[in-house]
Amino acid sequence: MIKIGIAGPRGKMGREAVKLVTNEPTFSLEAVLDRQFDGMQLGDVEGFESSLQTPIYTSLETLIHSHDIDVLIDLTTPEKGYVHTKLALENGVRPVVGTTGFTTEQLDELKELAEEKGIGCIIAPNFAVGAVLMMKFSQMAAKYFQDVEIMEMHHDQKLDAPSGTAIKTAEMITEVRETKEQGHPNEKETIPGARGGNFDGLRIHSTRLPGLIAHQQVMFGAEGETLTIRHDSYNRASFMSGVRFCVQTVMNLDTLVYGLENLID
Ligand code: NAP
Repeated sequence: MIKIGIAGPRGKMGREAVKLVTNEPTFSLEAVLDRQFDGMQLGDVEGFESSLQTPIYTSLETLIHSHDIDVLIDLTTPEKGYVHTKLALENGVRPVVGTTGFTTEQLDELKELAEEKGIGCIIAPNFAVGAVLMMKFSQMAAKYFQDVEIMEMHHDQKLDAPSGTAIKTAEMITEVRETKEQGHPNEKETIPGARGGNFDGLRIHSTRLPGLIAHQQVMFGAEGETLTIRHDSYNRASFMSGVRFCVQTVMNLDTLVYGLENLID
């Protein structure tokens, strides 16, 4: 049985994670971390099954010291997610982090800490297996197409832009793509930002609209042809098979792995 804590249970992702953990026979939901409802039970909170007796804490330190948890699933905000991950590692709890928006410095620091402690940590900007394949296929294509633009589209409640998936895709592409400043050398933006964010010369565009969940299109162009690789998540349940896989996998790791693509063949 893997004993689990969830940070951010009332969020859109957190609610799905609560369902996953409570329905999975080999997982046990020991406690949750919220910003409110300290001392109450999850079943007392609107939107959860009233039979859920999982205790709610507003302090991760207290939660960790009160429950012997193996894994902390974090689905909160970039600032808090980083603090939670660090605290979990310091206390020997394995983090599975879906929260996006960590800086490279934060990732480096957390990796060092995981190695120092000798425990596993998975930070996965995208838990959807299809999205991971989209990134891998994009990396394959980037060997042959130097010109590429990434268009990511998300719901308008998302805090970070570009998305963690878009950044990860760009990083994977630049591992194999020859650096190139794309577009016309004399191009001029008449509206700032029109050409998107510049990542090693390729461009990333972020769209935010209600109705969207998580979508990304990677478009390659060459003389007389284009290639488009696209992935769409239509609901948050699409992320949960990845969360289950990460919780199981993190138990056997002794370092930090960033990105699900480094764990699936
Ligand atoms: P959301 O609906 O806004 O949920 C975030 C939750 O975190 C809220 O319930 C919020 O509480 C809570 N929270 C904030 N600070 C907290 C703290 N200090 N302690 C405990 N809980 C805290 O967002 P979401 O759509 O679920 O997304 C959550 C994160 O997952 C984001 O970073 C998002 O980018 C990421 N995400 C990842 C994937 C993936 O596949 N890896 C997929 C989708 C989203 P309040 O309601 O009180 O503010």
